[in-house]
Amino acid sequence: MKRFEGRNPHKRDAGGKRTITRRDFLNGIPITVGSTAVGGLLPELFATALADGRAPQDLPNYYPPSLTGLRGNHPGSFEAAHKVRDGDFGPLPRPGARAEANETYDLVVVGGGISGLAAAHFYRERHKDARILILDNHDDFGGHAKRNEFQLGGRLALMNGGTYEIDSPRPYSAVANGVLKTLTIDPVALTKKCTDRDFYHSLGLRRGIFLDKETFGADKLIVARDGSSWAQLLAQSPLSPAAQRDIARIEEEKIDYLPDLSSAEKKSRLSRVSYRDFLLNVAKADPGVIAFYQARTHGEWGVGIDAVSALDVWAFGLPGFQGLNLEPGSAPHMGYTAAGYADGGSYTFHFPDGNASIARLLVRHLIPESLPGNGAEDAVTAPLDYSRLDRPSSPVRIRLSSIVVRVRNVGDPKHAEAVDIAYTRGGKPSWVRGRSCVLACYNMMIPFLCPDLPEPQKAALHYPVKIPLIYASIALKNWTPFKSLGISQVYAPGSYFSSLSLNQVVDIGGYRSVRSPDEPILVHLTRTPVKPGLPERDQHRAGHFDILNTSFATFEQKIREQLSRILDHGGFDAGRDITAITVNRWPHGYAYEYNPLFDPDWPTGSEPHVIGRARHGRIAIANSDAGAAAYTDSAIDQAYRAVQELFAA
Ligand SMILES: Cc1cc2nc3c(=O)[nH]c(=O)nc-3n(C[C@H](O)[C@H](O)[C@H](O)COP(=O)(O)OP(=O)(O)OC[C@H]3O[C@@H](n4cnc5c(N)ncnc54)[C@H](O)[C@@H]3O)c2cc1C
Repeated sequence: MKRFEGRNPHKRDAGGKRTITRRDFLNGIPITVGSTAVGGLLPELFATALADGRAPQDLPNYYPPSLTGLRGNHPGSFEAAHKVRDGDFGPLPRPGARAEANETYDLVVVGGGISGLAAAHFYRERHKDARILILDNHDDFGGHAKRNEFQLGGRLALMNGGTYEIDSPRPYSAVANGVLKTLTIDPVALTKKCTDRDFYHSLGLRRGIFLDKETFGADKLIVARDGSSWAQLLAQSPLSPAAQRDIARIEEEKIDYLPDLSSAEKKSRLSRVSYRDFLLNVAKADPGVIAFYQARTHGEWGVGIDAVSALDVWAFGLPGFQGLNLEPGSAPHMGYTAAGYADGGSYTFHFPDGNASIARLLVRHLIPESLPGNGAEDAVTAPLDYSRLDRPSSPVRIRLSSIVVRVRNVGDPKHAEAVDIAYTRGGKPSWVRGRSCVLACYNMMIPFLCPDLPEPQKAALHYPVKIPLIYASIALKNWTPFKSLGISQVYAPGSYFSSLSLNQVVDIGGYRSVRSPDEPILVHLTRTPVKPGLPERDQHRAGHFDILNTSFATFEQKIREQLSRILDHGGFDAGRDITAITVNRWPHGYAYEYNPLFDPDWPTGSEPHVIGRARHGRIAIANSDAGAAAYTDSAIDQAYRAVQELFAA
């Protein structure tokens, strides 16, 4: 999935910080860095629209993908939900009291991510005239599958704000594959036709490793050169001779550290120790190597090597296992992701905006007039008309900036024939009624929305803690510093952002990636907030807090400083070269997949996600949380199951 490890006057300070005020206008919505009024829709825009009796999404030029600043869970998207969680929301109006006459639907979907959009699609497969309302708390649809859009040097530049690509540990199911077919997405053909994965390599660019002075004693960028050994690479680094020697050993030597065990016994042993403990206690490495490897697991697992099992990282090709002669393939006691990839994985394809393209294509399928064109390729550059999303004449409607705060069956759940759903938009609460409801939102939020769920189900829904992440998209005037340094991506184990990479090269439909280092480009940075040493779910709780308590100004300063320190010797000047910053916050990011180091081995069928997703009257539960798998295909499969449950009831 998330293989990114390994996104006026310019006045500079020492960290390359420049002061930028509102600078640029795109599609009528300011794109600017350094301003407090970025991220969510400008409050005044919201106020104007509501005073006008119109929803912001109906205003001309409403176009969230081009907003910069704090995106992802942007300001204004979550506060009411947190009030519900904390019991501070206050009284709700009586159901029906404010509902408009036409606010009754066959299905109301809570959550406009890929699962919610897919649920609407599956429902209409069973009931072709169904009227459906999808409510989402963000100012854009897609959930994690968000699009970051820029105009750089007069051309369109795209990056994924969240979901990176079609890629899953297991082959896509017939159901998920069927959705891709319906949307005319053929990942294998598209990869062949549109992707140039070797482009940067063909320019001689390689992966760099940045060691920072706070963690390693001195700032140093190490760049792999073809044919160079690890000993040569590390010779100029600030690492101690013992750490250098042991990293070279772990990377290159074939040593069987468990010679008396069979492959199955070794795998069992490795599944019960973290990679950190494997390095220290099994490979007997110098403690100085730990900081070097600590963040290698950030992008995939959302925690460091202290909290991922050695067996799971083996499946991803991390070093140290070359001499153990492990049989290929999955083994008991592996995590979902590692076990799946150990056995193969799905096809892959990266749209320039990641799986936001899937969300846009689903929206086109549900509301054809919102996105012109008719194929997966032309959709990439097609302009989406947000004012078409919530028209009374449309059988499917998507209502944005609408936070659902209460969901309840009308009457006894066993005999209920409708569900009332309360939501708030711009501070105004409303109720709608659905003959059924699919909750395609977050598991841990559901007990607060439906307090009358059975207690064991609520406890099960509370169990997972979603994985927090930051994906930042940075616009640069050019990428000549990368070219001069010979790098296209960097692993930075001790830094605030643990990885960065140049935008992937994909040409699709009318969209063209840049080829010349003199042209403007987008760079992706990933931050994974962690607390090494704590159990995984506690690390995520701390990371969630960290993300929501970091201001845009801090992110901006960290980005400028980190890029300056890494790219300095390539002639980079943050004040001159950075032209826009979008920080996609995902405090509730990847769905939680059980961790063999911390979670019990539940018998099949009694895992929290299975107990938690039980249908409750006319309310069914979708979302990737309900599959305990942080993948697009899981979001689709869970939508399918939830919809079939409603028709079976
Ligand atoms: C940074 C990142 C990168 C990823 N990369 C990949 C990848 O490369 N490949 C892959 O397959 N998967 C990837 N995933 C996982 C994948 O994005 C998800 O599994 C999938 O998109 C989840 O879709 P969903 O609809 O289930 O949930 P979401 O995308 O989370 O959508 C749920 C929606 O419901 C909304 N909601 C929640 N509560 C309420 C409420 N009370 N009222 C109204 N709306 C509400 C949420 O805000 C959200 O918009 C990634 C995830 C993240 C965070």
